[in-house]
Amino acid sequence: MKIAVLGAGAMGSMLGAFLKLGGADVTLLVRRKELAAKMADPGIVMRSYTGADGEKTETAPIPMKAAVSCEGLGEMDAVLVMVKGCDTKSALEGASSIIGKDTKVITLQNGIGNTDIIAKTVAPENIYYGCLNMSAIMSAPAVLDTGLFGDVNVALGAVVKGEEQKKFGDEFADILNKGGIKAVYTEDIDTEVWNKLLVNIAVNAGCGLVRMRGGEAGADQEFVLLAVDMVKEAIAVGMAMGVKLDINHFMTHVLPSARKTSGLHYPSMAQDMLMKKAPTEIDFINGAVERLGKKAGIPTPLNQTITRLVHVIERNYDKQYVEKSAKSGPSFKVSIAEKFCKGCGYCIKYCPKQVLKAEDSLNAKGYVKVKVDNISDCIGCLSCSTVCPEAAITVVKED
Ligand code: SF4
Ligand code: SF4
Repeated sequence: MKIAVLGAGAMGSMLGAFLKLGGADVTLLVRRKELAAKMADPGIVMRSYTGADGEKTETAPIPMKAAVSCEGLGEMDAVLVMVKGCDTKSALEGASSIIGKDTKVITLQNGIGNTDIIAKTVAPENIYYGCLNMSAIMSAPAVLDTGLFGDVNVALGAVVKGEEQKKFGDEFADILNKGGIKAVYTEDIDTEVWNKLLVNIAVNAGCGLVRMRGGEAGADQEFVLLAVDMVKEAIAVGMAMGVKLDINHFMTHVLPSARKTSGLHYPSMAQDMLMKKAPTEIDFINGAVERLGKKAGIPTPLNQTITRLVHVIERNYDKQYVEKSAKSGPSFKVSIAEKFCKGCGYCIKYCPKQVLKAEDSLNAKGYVKVKVDNISDCIGCLSCSTVCPEAAITVVKED
């Protein structure tokens, strides 16, 4: 099967690598030439921390086809869309030459609403969607720190539920299974997608607003009460649309399973709001609940409020309060959470300005202590927070 991955960031690259391991002919579409070159030679390395003490295992490099544009690639059997929701429309426009009348277009993006955007240019019988139970951070070019969780890592379904769609869905899932990942095609995909949506509703925007990691916010009772009330609104909307959802199952199974792996990290939307100062996926998460609630006649005041607050932040990154420093030009605050740091030294190695240093002493966990040495040289490139496998570093622009 000839497959292109649009938006081969960490998650897209991880899926592309598993598809290749499963026998597909995969091309990753990336923005930067240098990254494309690394993905091709030596290839993608996937690391996971699965041992009793967080021991690391890693694959040999997996050489991938990678390109910065679709020119000359020809029509694909399948195109996997992995860009952020706000970029779906432009990504599809840029990929028109590789999407033929029989090309299947698959979205495994966060949230809901991407299938509607895809349906503007792709026939519904060729559109597939689903959700992921896996995590990935590109800790260095073409090096992925990965995590797989839940009974199924990739759940896939189709907009039109027919024999032909099932045949393709099973074939796609089979490639992933052969590649070493648990994948299924299911006709009840909406329950899977909505349960994942509920997890995102519970933590994603909220963590960005309170500026905390999932585990830290989840330890605060009032944060949890707010999250549960937002989830209840979403469940009412989902059920009105015919999706099979159950708050008890969500609270006792879905949320605890997600907590096991994501509590240590800033959720992706919080990273957008706090560090990258980038557009978020709010319209595909809480905003989608507001939109669908209006159609179903179900009030969603909490999801609406959260959506609006995040929009305000997105529009005003440059106006947010920061403590003024005496120094002119932008300055950054780099914080290392000692309780997560394992002293691997990646942050020191990848900082282009030698801002971080190893101390002679050990940190509270018994690992080599890392300190912020000459913060005035920091250029806010985020390399340290991106490479940190423990999500222990926060970089915030101060002025
Ligand atoms: S943001 Fe960039 S320059 Fe600043 S400490 Fe991190 S790696 Fe170094
Ligand atoms: S802060 Fe992160 S990258 Fe730096 S030494 Fe600690 S665990 Fe490693």
